[in-house]
Amino acid sequence: MAVSPLIVHPTEGTLLPSRPLSSPLKRQQQATHSAVASSNGTPALARPPGQDLQAGLGMSLDLVEQMNEDEKRKYVKGRKLGEGTYANVYLGHARHDPAVRVAIKKIKVQKEFRDGLAPDAVRELKHLQELHHPNIINLLSVFSSKDQNLNLVLEYLPLGDLEELIRDVDHVRYGAADIKAWMGMLTRAVWFCHDNCVLHRDIKPNNLLIAADGEVKLADFGLARSFADPGRKMTANVITRWYRPPELLFGARHYSGAVDVWSVGLVFAELVIRAPFLPGNSEVEQIALICRQIGTPTDDNWPGVTQLKEYTVPSDVTPVWDKSAYMGRFGAVGAEGVDLLMRTLALDPRKRITAREMLEHRWWRTEPRPTRKEELPRKQDGGEDKMGSDLKRRNGVVEDENNNNARGAKVARKLDFGATK
Ligand code: AMP
Repeated sequence: MAVSPLIVHPTEGTLLPSRPLSSPLKRQQQATHSAVASSNGTPALARPPGQDLQAGLGMSLDLVEQMNEDEKRKYVKGRKLGEGTYANVYLGHARHDPAVRVAIKKIKVQKEFRDGLAPDAVRELKHLQELHHPNIINLLSVFSSKDQNLNLVLEYLPLGDLEELIRDVDHVRYGAADIKAWMGMLTRAVWFCHDNCVLHRDIKPNNLLIAADGEVKLADFGLARSFADPGRKMTANVITRWYRPPELLFGARHYSGAVDVWSVGLVFAELVIRAPFLPGNSEVEQIALICRQIGTPTDDNWPGVTQLKEYTVPSDVTPVWDKSAYMGRFGAVGAEGVDLLMRTLALDPRKRITAREMLEHRWWRTEPRPTRKEELPRKQDGGEDKMGSDLKRRNGVVEDENNNNARGAKVARKLDFGATK
């Protein structure tokens, strides 16, 4: 029996015993209710506001500062893990127990911004406070350090990101069951964001971090925004170019969760071919690639597209690719997988599948079952390699998911991989 994507294993990996603690910082006190997911990823009741960041409301400044000091003292900062556009990320641990590891994201103070905080940092803080789901990085705490630096304490995700796994073709081997597991986790995360009226707007393999137990977590909410007000104009200049949908490339200022779904589709494609599917070097080239590899957007396949402000396409019109063409390139995930992929890459955003509809797709119920998260391939320096080192994977080849015999599927996977050497 196939595992429903709506069912997730409870996350045993919660790093701290308690929920995120109150932040004493006044500038976060506008936080309202938080969306939380039950163990199967379905939204449940929010935490009582009294336990949340509003705890500081009405308190004296001294008390706020004292609480900030107390919060800061709970963590010890260690070596640098990485650097983002507006923050440095450090490994840390709980003072009371060095085994409880965390990532501390220290936001750089940037004088050009109000309060010294880049808008990306404010967005990340705002949305992570609100979203709690097993497939979304967990914000554990917030405190300020000297010079008014803001520190986000995040769950530590030690196994790198999905991009590292995709690219490491010499050491990391995976098959259709693994892709199904990763795609399930990603789709649940995106569904949860959309269900809570949040657009992520930068979905890509590099923003999918991996927890110690193999769970994939959507991270980097620096470009996220809420879309509760559909009449409001939004910027078209979001989403890393390779994952940016045609409506944004054509300058649409009103858009929906469909922008994230397009990116999810491109992550799906990339997982299969182990290379970016549409790696444009410029916006013009990105549009040309979409036209060539998916089909040229026209008023026939996308009524009204030619009215978009920045609509421009190469003069030689390519018809939208049909299923047999997709099967040739992505057939390793089976006919149902290809059907799902094609629906995520519908040119017209109104015809594109939604994250909820994705979760209801037949692909999840066909063999093979998604791999259990603990058994998913890991990066080599993570110390584990699920399959023998003699079974190297080549670009673009994964096992055929139409093999319905579980034992047979395992053998086929080995033979397939061996045969591609
Ligand atoms: P970011 O600014 O979120 O893009 O983070 C910069 C880098 O820090 C990432 O590419 C990761 O290598 C690392 N990093 C960020 N968050 C975490 C985390 N929660 N656990 C482990 N490493 C992280």
